[in-house]
Amino acid sequence: MKRDRGREGIYFDYAATTPVHPEVIRAMEPYLSEIFGNPSSPHSFGQEAKAAVEEARAKVAQLIGAREEEVIFTSGGTEANNLALYGVAYALRQRGNHIITSSIEHHSVLEACNFLEELGLEVTYLPVDGYGLLDPEDVRKAITPRTVLISIMHANNEVGTIEPIREVASIAKEYDVYLHTDAVQTVGHIPVNVNDLGVDLMSISAHKLYGPKGVGALYVRKGLMFTPFVRGGGQEKGRRAGTENVSSIVGFGRACELALQDLEGEMKRLTALRDGLIRGLLERIKGIHLNGHPTERLPGNVNVRIDSVEAETLLLNLDLEGIAVSTGSACSSGDLEPSHVLLAMGCSPEEALSALRLSLGRWTTQEEIDRFLEVLPPLVQRLRAMRSL
Ligand SMILES: *Cc1c(COP(=O)(O)O)cnc(C)c1O
Repeated sequence: MKRDRGREGIYFDYAATTPVHPEVIRAMEPYLSEIFGNPSSPHSFGQEAKAAVEEARAKVAQLIGAREEEVIFTSGGTEANNLALYGVAYALRQRGNHIITSSIEHHSVLEACNFLEELGLEVTYLPVDGYGLLDPEDVRKAITPRTVLISIMHANNEVGTIEPIREVASIAKEYDVYLHTDAVQTVGHIPVNVNDLGVDLMSISAHKLYGPKGVGALYVRKGLMFTPFVRGGGQEKGRRAGTENVSSIVGFGRACELALQDLEGEMKRLTALRDGLIRGLLERIKGIHLNGHPTERLPGNVNVRIDSVEAETLLLNLDLEGIAVSTGSACSSGDLEPSHVLLAMGCSPEEALSALRLSLGRWTTQEEIDRFLEVLPPLVQRLRAMRSL
């Protein structure tokens, strides 16, 4: 990966986080030094910072086709997801107590749902098929008169499958139920427009689109019933209190602006790299399988499972070669937990533990793909030989 600053090595983990775009850093710098005012202050120091926050809000809104006042800045995707679920569940508690989501959501949705269950709400976790695709008709069947919210992710962060949100939205509308989508993996990577999609709430995170970490946004459609839960000084029109993270918000805005400029070109370039990588892997390695959908897929996502290979061992060996990849497994108290996403797609625990995610992005080159395709086959062969001993 070649950038004007940064380290050597091949980074295939853009879905975990992206490097901050140099132009984003440049946009942020003045707000870490001379422009330091508190946006809530009425004097000119404060008003200069406030103007920057509002300019960033306009840029975020533009990328997703929203109005500026519908964008609430948060500390990232996790908080946006929590805010969406608690905000609607509480506001509509008189109307109902039922939420519909999927079994492949990010932990920040699943854990928030678990908490709501502890508080007495009911949550339906819908299944997905072998590609990780949700069937919108399952949403229809799950809706009850007590359903207050549907939360389905736009694209899955592990296997890259893009969900049929438009279809889910038309069902949600039919039954007059709010729809939230976790669009952290899609905004800035494929066209995302809140009105085209028909969603009422949508989560975004800056560090997945070449912005800084610790900042994101929740889109909340105008007029929607919604209870804030971070309370204090009334920032963000009372919907999320706390002094704004001005420099990061400015960086987030700039990242959205840059994303919009290259969206189509990057999509095409990454899709070609992705498909070349998938083809190369399938040709060079026996017993390798693609996880997720062949076409309804994020441009930069490749996820494969490799028979008789433990992905975690492979990850560590690739790291020694200077190549950063990811597995979907989480380490809990020393044991490897297979990915809930792959299990939901019908993989056995062993298959799930053999899955490798390669996520490509703005600085990925064909040379890096070629090098990976040289390094991986002998490594897989070695690990398989060691395992059969
Ligand atoms: C990264 C991610 C999140 C969490 O966002 P943070 O800004 O890291 O809190 C939520 N959902 C998905 C799909 C993600 O990939």
